[in-house]
Amino acid sequence: MKNLLETQNVVKKFGDFTALDGISISVPENSIYGLLGPNGAGKTTLIRIINQITMPDKGKVLFNGRNLQPDDVHIIGYLPEERGLYKNMKVGEQAIYLAMLKGMSKQDAKKALKYWFEKFGITSWWNKKLQELSKGQAQKIQFIITVMHNPKLLIFDEVFSGFDPINANLIRDEILELRKNGATIIFSTHRMESVEELCDDIALINNGKKILEGNLIDIKKQFKSNTFEIGLKTEDKERIKKELSLNYEIEEANFKTLEDELKLLVKVPNDNPKELINYLNNKGILNHFVELIPTANDIFIQAVNKNN
Ligand code: ADP
Ligand code: MG
Repeated sequence: MKNLLETQNVVKKFGDFTALDGISISVPENSIYGLLGPNGAGKTTLIRIINQITMPDKGKVLFNGRNLQPDDVHIIGYLPEERGLYKNMKVGEQAIYLAMLKGMSKQDAKKALKYWFEKFGITSWWNKKLQELSKGQAQKIQFIITVMHNPKLLIFDEVFSGFDPINANLIRDEILELRKNGATIIFSTHRMESVEELCDDIALINNGKKILEGNLIDIKKQFKSNTFEIGLKTEDKERIKKELSLNYEIEEANFKTLEDELKLLVKVPNDNPKELINYLNNKGILNHFVELIPTANDIFIQAVNKNN
């Protein structure tokens, strides 16, 4: 797949402090790309460079295979971490003004806004001042302003912060819809459930360095340990446990079941659990057999701890 955006060896220093230490990322076209990392990792700094708000000290940003240009801001939608709306201005008026700055005509801006306000069921907010809205409500407006000119590339910096679970789901579904309609989306977060739900690819940044990048499913495969969670109904728990421990690494497992079962985590030496399944089926009723797939959260914690 073609990359819509690439950064190559981007370095950014603030005085003696190196905030970004040679970051290269590749964002495939029409994908959702998660920029992950602990607080202070450098996510916002990189996003600000991609949006040409700050310049890198070294390295470059390629858009569609050529150097990023000032004009490109018209086809990029950017939702900043520190929200940049005018508190005293009315919501509708302000959104039209900002859309016109991005090159929309007043008429198109009005039409697009009407569509989004109706979609989100917030037409009554049109004449409210921004300061009358809650943080989450203002964030919704900021989201609309970011997407209303149909940008090719969308960059959301911590878009989920400030949203309750219902609104977080609403935004998640909109992001999926945007990809379906052809957009490419980069978003930074430290909220890992949104990563599971949304990301095709991720990059993990720690202390200004990229420590992991790639397709999320491929990364999960790299991090998996061939461990299976089993629940076996048997009269003979202790003996089976002992037998299993001769051939496998086992651990007690802790999950809820409706019946009294032998519950274990069993690590299989290769990724073929067939022998284990046959054995368990011969010894009792195998009610529960699930491979433990590392979550984005597991991967984040493991990779960052290893790097530190
Ligand atoms: P993240 O978004 O991953 O939480 P940031 O990119 O905001 O992290 O910050 C990365 C590091 O760079 C932090 O240590 C932060 O204090 C520092 N930093 C960011 N912007 C500036 C600035 N304008 N001046 C000095 N230090 C900065
Ligand atoms: Mg940040």
